[in-house]
Amino acid sequence: MSPAESGKPRPDLGDAVAAPYWEAARRGELALPRCDACGLVFAYPRRFCPGCWCGERTWQTMGGGGRLWSFTEVHVAFYDDTWAGDVPYVVAVVELDEGPRLLANLIDSDPARLRIGARVRVTFVDRDENLTLPAFKLAP
Ligand SMILES: [Zn+2]
Repeated sequence: MSPAESGKPRPDLGDAVAAPYWEAARRGELALPRCDACGLVFAYPRRFCPGCWCGERTWQTMGGGGRLWSFTEVHVAFYDDTWAGDVPYVVAVVELDEGPRLLANLIDSDPARLRIGARVRVTFVDRDENLTLPAFKLAP
């Protein structure tokens, strides 16, 4: 892990509510909880369904496709030098085909081609030996 990577925030991989999300990402899959009562697929993972407050859910692998719902291109490295080696980078809100919206980096994509509604595909970035982050890129 580079010194800059060590300064970036990390999720709690041992958190029981979200652990299946991180374990799936490690396998190269995007998985989200689906409410057993109303069928809502939701992100971020949480203990209770935001649609009906049911506490029972089943993890479902997403298809990986979606549309660019919003994005910003970041040119200033905030928080000391932690992101200095990353700028410019794109942070996006992606609306998955299954409905939920995820905040993630958009990588390997020409910023000049970004348009709201553009098709994107999930991809995965290994930050280190334990943490893999879902990200997106423009669909071909
Ligand atoms: Zn529900």
